[in-house]
Amino acid sequence: MNAVDIIIKKRDKLELSREEIEFFIKGIASNQIPDYQAAAWAMAVLLNGMTDQETTDLTLAMANSGQVMDLTGIIPIEVDKHSTGGVGDKTTLVVEPTVAACGLPVAKMSGKGLGFSGGTLDKMESIPGFRTGVSQEEFIRLLKTTGLVLAGQTADLAPADGKLYALRDVTGTVPSIPLIASSVMSKKIAGGAQAIVLDVKVGLGAFMRNLDDARQLSRLMVSIGKLSGRKVVALLSDMNQPLGNAVGNALEVKEAIDTLHGHGPADFTEHCLTVASHMLVVGQKAGSLEEARRMVEEALSSGKSWEKFRMLVTNQGGDVSYIDDPDKLGKAALIEVVKAPRAGYISEINAQVVGETSVELGAGRVKKGDPIDPAVGIIIHHKVGDKLAEGEPLFTIHANDKGKLDAARIRLLGAHKWSDSACEPLPLFYGVIE
Ligand code: URA
Repeated sequence: MNAVDIIIKKRDKLELSREEIEFFIKGIASNQIPDYQAAAWAMAVLLNGMTDQETTDLTLAMANSGQVMDLTGIIPIEVDKHSTGGVGDKTTLVVEPTVAACGLPVAKMSGKGLGFSGGTLDKMESIPGFRTGVSQEEFIRLLKTTGLVLAGQTADLAPADGKLYALRDVTGTVPSIPLIASSVMSKKIAGGAQAIVLDVKVGLGAFMRNLDDARQLSRLMVSIGKLSGRKVVALLSDMNQPLGNAVGNALEVKEAIDTLHGHGPADFTEHCLTVASHMLVVGQKAGSLEEARRMVEEALSSGKSWEKFRMLVTNQGGDVSYIDDPDKLGKAALIEVVKAPRAGYISEINAQVVGETSVELGAGRVKKGDPIDPAVGIIIHHKVGDKLAEGEPLFTIHANDKGKLDAARIRLLGAHKWSDSACEPLPLFYGVIE
């Protein structure tokens, strides 16, 4: 077997065997296959696609290229959730403590943000002292004793995916549905997940711009789950406008805290309740979605979700005085409320532009390793479909640099589109694929 024959086979639209895929992925992981061959192969996959079986074999080969976590015997079932990345997506901060409060342990490994979608770790790190670097021993101890842990992905988690993804990023081969599906699922499987709720974002601020592609990606990931013996459910959720109101790290933590206290934005609260309910069902803690919904509502309204979040912060070294009094969380020097320039109905709030603007303010990274400013960001006060009078608050910018604040004001005004006649609000979800 050799790399060039495998590239030629995919170039000629033939199906690769499991042995060929394993050979290729092992070669990437061990640096025996050079970048130019890996990139040529990725382009052949992008152009000619893969069958579900090939994609599953690729997923498992990448998952097995590093350490595979096995939590059997430690918790009854490992349930995970994964968002394909969005703007204002602080769902994990509410969903994980809520699910844990319902008695289903959750061990979550998250990534840092890259591009205009924020990362859970960056949000949590805006709480002084909070550690996301957790050793394997501590990970297991916290999970056993408290049922909740939130840590950064280790370098040894699906390392072949790490290498291939970095190559795809610079060779125009990211937007391949089989490559995205196997990349996401390999990390979940390497993390030990037996049941997974996928939050597949679709719209202007998502990887998947249209519903057809999002459905295809979701179906493929559900199929990989089935072929690899995992239970997977995919929720198709809107990412045309930001989720909730806050975009930016400390601002999103504040919004998550409000939500855990029962007074978060309606769309974000509903999104969290839905994701958490599905996790209870796939994790076999609830027999139906209705029962799960009652459980998660009770966890939130009784304060149990909040207590779990507080415990998570304490256990991982965070200073709880900052979440007990979120006004202590980093505050930007310049805060400006921008008013509606006209009366009318909002017909679009472009999530991509909002996400990019928050990165320009300093809330995200332009390249890996860039520092981020936890205090800066944006509060979007309205949703598509809202009717406003001229001069009502439209959005608030939190900045630490006057030039960036001025640029953000212009971009965010442009991100809002208006109509004189009523506009339909956007749905939260477009469907569920099981
Ligand atoms: N997220 C991933 O983890 N991998 C991809 O290929 C795309 C999004």
